Amino acid sequence: MRYAIVADIHSNLVALQAVLEHIGLGGPVEEVWCLGDVVGYGPAPNECIQLLQRYSHICIAGNHDWAATGRLDVSDFNPEAKAAVLWTASQLSAESRAYLEALQQTVVKGDFTLAHGSPRDPLWEYVISERAAILSFEHFQTRFCLIGHSHIPLLFNLSDNGRVGLRGVPPEQPFRLDEGRWIINPGSVGQPRDGDHRASYLVYDSDSEEFRHYRVPYDIETTQRQMRALGLPRPLAERLSYGW
Ligand code: ZN
Repeated sequence: MRYAIVADIHSNLVALQAVLEHIGLGGPVEEVWCLGDVVGYGPAPNECIQLLQRYSHICIAGNHDWAATGRLDVSDFNPEAKAAVLWTASQLSAESRAYLEALQQTVVKGDFTLAHGSPRDPLWEYVISERAAILSFEHFQTRFCLIGHSHIPLLFNLSDNGRVGLRGVPPEQPFRLDEGRWIINPGSVGQPRDGDHRASYLVYDSDSEEFRHYRVPYDIETTQRQMRALGLPRPLAERLSYGW
């Protein structure tokens, strides 16, 4: 069975549509696993939630999701993120608000633990260094932990002899993660930050136990136009062109 792993959609409906279409081209998926931050930054929060809800899916809470519902204080957000969160809060339908409020911080699904930032601090911690990964491995029990938040596709391995190493995600070819335990970031659908502006996601095939990383081009200018028309902070629109 195939599972699609997506993260950090950030109200970018055009990117989400492109990714879901691309997933469909590869055949049916059993479930979409979404690692949080469905909303924030981008122009279409309600539409992204509605589109996700058409799929059999699991979603966990990201910091932007909870901030948009008032479950999390926005004082720790940078000014642009804060402006976008407050705008998002003003746009949410009652259904969208209820959906976001109900999201759990972590979910365990078979061999996988899902957490937005890290299993240690699910809403806030960034795992982009081996040091952070070492601490994270102590906070989940499964073989794999799926995370988002940094918007950077990354793999961390804890080998059987206790060493933690950072690995890049192999591009566009199936790979297995056999030895030891792993922390896996699929990258971001709606606001990639690794210098590649294309939407990023992973597929896991439970039969072959293979993962595959994909980058999907989407119509960035449409999203940028929508953001400008809605008065969202301009740098948030511009950064989409650079994948940063
Ligand atoms: Zn995010």
